[in-house]
Amino acid sequence: MLRLYTHPACLQHDPGPGQAESPARLRAVLQALDHDRFAAIDRVEAPRASREQLLRVHDAAYVERLLSSAPASGTLRLDEDTLMSPASAEAALRAAGAVVAAVDAVIAGRDGHAFCAVRPPGHHATADQAMGFCLFNNIAVAAAHALAAHGLKRIAIADFDVHHGNGTQAIFATEPRVLFISSHQSPLYPETGREDERGVGNIVNAPLSPGDGSYEFRELWDGMLLPRLHAFKPQLVLVSAGFDAHRDDPLADLRLNHEDFAWITERLVALAPAHAGGRLVSSLEGGYNLSALAASATAHVGALLD
Ligand SMILES: [Zn+2]
Repeated sequence: MLRLYTHPACLQHDPGPGQAESPARLRAVLQALDHDRFAAIDRVEAPRASREQLLRVHDAAYVERLLSSAPASGTLRLDEDTLMSPASAEAALRAAGAVVAAVDAVIAGRDGHAFCAVRPPGHHATADQAMGFCLFNNIAVAAAHALAAHGLKRIAIADFDVHHGNGTQAIFATEPRVLFISSHQSPLYPETGREDERGVGNIVNAPLSPGDGSYEFRELWDGMLLPRLHAFKPQLVLVSAGFDAHRDDPLADLRLNHEDFAWITERLVALAPAHAGGRLVSSLEGGYNLSALAASATAHVGALLD
């Protein structure tokens, strides 16, 4: 069983012309998934995250500021890359709410996968700061929900976006019930994610070098990251699914192709039944070449479906 969570508001968050993180990204993903091959997917409209859910990882002052600062027209710049438009607060609530609802569903269903086709993305957002296109940290809000509302004791977050998930790492750096595992290009924005950033032993950073491709990526996950995931015995696997390590992506210099995203997804899916009752929730992060993003996301969702 595969559920797809999304919401029209996620298409209305519009940082404006010339921004890499654009509504066209999500449109490309949803169009590619609108295909007979994906007819069996259960499509669900994402609810809003509640204040209580957001406050498990975000500061109250930050949540209030974000929810009240969407401009009436045009855009408001929060940092160099992060802008809000009139629909952005609603989109951010739906994006975080999607991942929370997906966690509820896979836990209730015992063996299920879910993909959240949402934006704004989340993994750069910290407890009190929007950055790198991210407003709320969707995957972190969902992980905190699984801990608090479902009483899970071991949750793994696998992040293969080409950028380091600095926000997710910062939020869980002292939380041993969450294992955060990331492969990412270094050097690259946001310039965090060194191997010696280990949290309380629950953070595993595996930098790749510019120019690295399928071989290096697979070797890293097979040799080091997947064994760490297995050893942790996660009761739930969450995935920060960014597709910007693709060779055609304009924001980075790794050389993956869409089949590598099917490969890593199959590996993560294979891991889930051993410990997690098959429960896996994936959420869209980056990916900025529209055709590469569509091909990669369909490869990922295809592997979740099979
Ligand atoms: Zn990214």
